[in-house]
Parts: sequence; structure tokens; C-alpha cells
Amino acid sequence: MTIAAHTLGCKLNYAETSDILRRLAAEGHTVVDWGRPADLYLINTCTVTAVAEKKCRTAIHQAHRLNPEARIVVMGCFAQVAAKEIEAIPGVTLVLGNDRKHLLPQILKSSPACGGDLGNPGNQAPLPTQNSAQQKNGFIDSAQRRFPKIGEQPAASPTNDFQDLQDLAQREPTAFPLQYSSGDRTRTFFKIQDGCDYFCTYCAIPFARGRSRSATIEETLCAARRIADSGAREVVLTGVNTGTFGQHQGESFLDLLRGLDAIPGIQRYRISSIEPNLLTDDILRFVASSRAFLPHFHIPLQAGSDHVLALMHRRYDTALYRSKLLSIKALMPDACIAADIMAGFNGENEEEFRKTLDFVDSLPISYLHVFTYSDRPGTAALRLAEKVPVAVRHEHTARLLELSERKHNAFIQSQLGTTRPVLWESSIKSEVGGRKSEVKNNLPPQTSNLRPPTSYLMEGWTDNYIRVSAPYDPALVGTVTQVLLGPDNIVRD
Ligand code: SF4
Repeated sequence: MTIAAHTLGCKLNYAETSDILRRLAAEGHTVVDWGRPADLYLINTCTVTAVAEKKCRTAIHQAHRLNPEARIVVMGCFAQVAAKEIEAIPGVTLVLGNDRKHLLPQILKSSPACGGDLGNPGNQAPLPTQNSAQQKNGFIDSAQRRFPKIGEQPAASPTNDFQDLQDLAQREPTAFPLQYSSGDRTRTFFKIQDGCDYFCTYCAIPFARGRSRSATIEETLCAARRIADSGAREVVLTGVNTGTFGQHQGESFLDLLRGLDAIPGIQRYRISSIEPNLLTDDILRFVASSRAFLPHFHIPLQAGSDHVLALMHRRYDTALYRSKLLSIKALMPDACIAADIMAGFNGENEEEFRKTLDFVDSLPISYLHVFTYSDRPGTAALRLAEKVPVAVRHEHTARLLELSERKHNAFIQSQLGTTRPVLWESSIKSEVGGRKSEVKNNLPPQTSNLRPPTSYLMEGWTDNYIRVSAPYDPALVGTVTQVLLGPDNIVRD
């Protein structure tokens, strides 16, 4: 069977899709690029904003157009919270919530229709499910949007009403599958935690991914050793609320970091995102002195106004956020610090927005991830007053993006002339008219007898997350070299 996948949203989704595809490929299926005809399309969805949901619908329609006979499996966060809507989209044959999507390879394998036949468009026999009473078009009609207790039967039928979402979010955590990506051979996204207990007022993640959970430190280290054996050099630790790792089993995120640092073979770790209130001084001191953790932080801010932060039910104020960033820079002066910001949340009038701009401007933030607020079903923000008109939300977004560009330029400028360690990646780029693009179908450089022309380029990342390029050299792939940063080798999109 040929399978094409499309991933929307965060690194967590990327790690999950990649893990599922790797397991399907190991069972003999052929993974093809998105956009090519395939027998089965996987779409791993996101619900963080209305725009993300629109992209999910677009991807479903695209898959149906590419091959109207294909099976389309929609999974992930949007599938979790909007199962009924997605089931009604033409072409969709299976909707899998977050608690079941990792089971897809088993579901396909255990189907009497599978045995290699699932790709046969003429064979529409249903797959067995825990809820096989619900079948549609001869396939599955079962989005298990609940997070049932282990051993409990899933809900008979998904609904999308508010009470059901509340119920969903309060359920016991389900089992935690450790998953990791395998795209570029040098870097992997390793899912160490899922779910969130915080219930920020704008966020649907607790509904889509359930309560915070993780494997034990021992289990996580065991998976990390497997990653090291696979040849990955850099591991990005991903999660929804990463810093809550281990809290439900009396273990700490810091102890996990200590264990990971001791694993031979992995040269670098990045923490993809951590809440400021969970970024303790002990963690900062550890990262600064560790063997492999890099001076690169992603710390959600969301607003630089204490009034708006309180409306969001964030667990910190601007004073705490500032103190964390100053501590980072005192310990690691060249650290890269990224921040998430939300534009146009309730209460963000011009005065409060100006506070956010001034706050960001005053801090050693290297760049921003800017999100435009949109109402999410089931969230407490729906009941808040002081709505910001949509046009103003977009105007705030544009001003924040402008500020981000300025901050990033300043950070890059501060690094010119410094020498940083760069891990070189395997993909080959070509440059036409100043625009770089990936060279498709390149053979793995170590096994290829054909050395690409020297006009081909390779790219890598510094420890503090600056992208650089160099003439392609297969001997460099997966190695770390010291690079003098200058305007000619820094890559900007
Ligand atoms: S910390 Fe807040 S914003 Fe982040 S996932 Fe949890 S509820 Fe959502």
C-alpha cells in the first residue's frame, strides 16, 4: 500500500506522524510524498487556531482530489475535538483521536482486509475496532474523542458539545507511547510528554490531548538509547507542557535531563518549549554546565501585560518572565531565546498591547512565534468580555511580526564574527537565483558514489539556533564543526 502523510501544527505532531510512518514502512508499506497519488492518506491535525483547522480541511479536500478512491485517515487534535464535522467531509474514512492514533499500524495490520489489501480501492471491508458497531462506507466511523481509563471501553459515540469537551479534559490520562521522528538522519523530535493540566483560558489543548502524562525516566532513557543507536546526533525534547514531565509519578524533569545528558552518542539536546514558571534556576544551571544541552530556549510569553496574562490564567507575571530571561543571559550570554506571543486576546486594548510591545522590546528575546487569537470551542475565554475586533487582532499580529524581525536581526548581528559549533544536516540544497531549494531524491551521501557539484549546498544549525550553509561535503554530514559566522554563511528565510 502507498501512504502519504501531511502534518499540521507542532513538533509533537511531527514526531507522532514520523513514528507512525516509520512503523508502517517497516511493515512493508511505501511512504510517498504528500501531493502524490496514494492508497491511504494520513492527516495529523491541529486545533490551535481557526486557521490551523482551516488548513486541516484543505488537506482533506486535497487528498480526496488526488485520489477519490483512497482511504483518508484524519487524526490528532482537530480530529479529537471536531470528530463529527470531520466525519462528514467527503472522502474521510477514519477519524482517530489523540489517544488512539498511535495504534493505527496495529489497526491496519489486524484488519482481515489489510493483509496488503487495504490499498485495494475495491476492497472496502471494515477494520475491526473497539467500536465496530459504528462503521461507515465499509470502513470505520469511530473517533474516540474521550480519554477513557485504561481498560475502560471508549464512548459509544463522539459528540461535540461543551459538556463532552469538559468531560474529556477531566478524564484520567491514558497510556503514554514514546515516539520520535526520523526525517533528517541527524536530528530527531522525541516526544517525552503529552497533555496539559493548566487550562489557560484560550487553549483547547487539554480537550484535544487530555491531562499531562509521560513515561517514567527509566522508560524514557531506554527509548533515548534506541534513538542514539539509530544514529541521530541531535534530539529535540518535545511535549505539550514539557516541564511537567514526571509530575504524576513523583519524578522530575531535571532528573530526566541529567539522565539524558549521560547517554553516549547523542551530541546535542534542545528543549523545544518550557513554561517560564517551570524553568527553575536548577534547570538553568544544569543546562549551562551540561555536556549536551544547548543554549537555546523557547519560553511561551503570550502577553507582556499582567492584566492580559491574568485573563489568560497564565501561571506567571511579567516580573517572573523577565527574571528568567535575565538569568539565562547571565549564565549563557549567547543563548537564543524564542517566545510565543498571542495577538488580540480579550482585554488587549491599545494600552495593554503597547505594554506587550515595550516588554518584548526590553528583553533579550531573539525572535517571536506570533499567533492570532481565535475563539476555541469549550474554552473559558468564550465567556470573557472585552473582545478585540478581528481587524485589530490582525493589526496587532502584523506589529508583533515586525518587532520579531527587528529582534531577530539584532540577535544575528550580535553573533556575527563569533565562532559557533554547527551540526551539519544531510539534505542537499541547490541555489537558483538566490533561492535555496531541497534536492529531491538525493541518495544518502555516505552510500552515493556521485558527489554533487560543489554549487550544491548543505545546511546546519549552530548551538544557539542560527542556520548556516556551506558547500556540500558528504564527509561533514552528522558532524559538528566550529564555524565563524558571517553575512555570507548565515541563512535567512
Ligand atoms: S500551558 Fe496553557 S497554553 Fe500551554 S498547552 Fe497547557 S493550557 Fe494550553
